[in-house]
Amino acid sequence: MTNGKLFGNEKINRLIRDEISRGVFSHAYIIEGESGSGRTTAAKNIIAAVCCKSDDAPCLTCDSCRRIFNDLSADIKFIKKPDGRATIGVDSVREIFENIYFKPADIDVRAYIITPAEKMTVQAQNSLLKILEEPPEGTLFFLIIENASDLLDTVRSRCRTLKTEALDKKTLKEMLFSSSAKAKRAFEDGNIGEDIFELWRGNYTSALMYFESQNACDNTKLFADAVAEDTIKRLEQPKETILLDLILYLTSQIKTREQYEAFLQALEKKFAEALMKQKCENECASALSPKIIFTYYKLTDEFSAQASENPPITAALTAFAISLVQKR
Ligand SMILES: [Zn+2]
Repeated sequence: MTNGKLFGNEKINRLIRDEISRGVFSHAYIIEGESGSGRTTAAKNIIAAVCCKSDDAPCLTCDSCRRIFNDLSADIKFIKKPDGRATIGVDSVREIFENIYFKPADIDVRAYIITPAEKMTVQAQNSLLKILEEPPEGTLFFLIIENASDLLDTVRSRCRTLKTEALDKKTLKEMLFSSSAKAKRAFEDGNIGEDIFELWRGNYTSALMYFESQNACDNTKLFADAVAEDTIKRLEQPKETILLDLILYLTSQIKTREQYEAFLQALEKKFAEALMKQKCENECASALSPKIIFTYYKLTDEFSAQASENPPITAALTAFAISLVQKR
């Protein structure tokens, strides 16, 4: 991963340096920002700054820092959605009560990272509130969330809210190079141009996924989702301008048959969702008419059915792009 350093995020880093490592810290933080923007890393940096004895805390190298950043501390608990459940319920929060009054085992505090906190039910939040009102000494809470406004006001008012920031190009590149040899090589060999940064929108996880996507099925799916979303945005532009742009975009992104198949599936799903949304809300969810979306849905389905057959990926993508644009 990223060795624990919280890249970019000047405000949070300053706070960690100036206040938290000097012992001025809150016992509960909301860390608000997009998924992949370093929210959990920010939480770990705060825990490490509180526990690390170095003058330059968090030093990232002492025993305490190493435990924290490598997920080796028994004192840091992640509270997540249980498998097969849609929410973080009151029973998950009650687990916190079980050991909160024990002494920490290997670092100086007990920390609880609730993620994603927007999945907490109202009952769960109210149960958490009881602990937040009177937390035992040496406990730290982190609520990782996209929008702090999704929490109850009473919970919000007990926490200090920090926001992660989208990374600028330079920082994102530095971060990528330090964690992915593949990414470094792709830039150095000139296989990747600077315009790719638009796709990532300052999000480290999206960028990393792009390079590591050939290895893991989940990553391929997320990658395909991002490309499908960008394809739809392109299709919403006026017809005259899109064909070449679309072909160049698709052929620069999609290199393997696995990616091609995942992309078509993701796109088909997005068209299906757009159709359902329009039915429910009786209004146009995008710049495309329901009729066009339906045509695109059928077309994507056809290409998807033939995706495992043999034309080279570039030819298949070009044919697909032409068909899409012709149907407008
Ligand atoms: Zn340290």
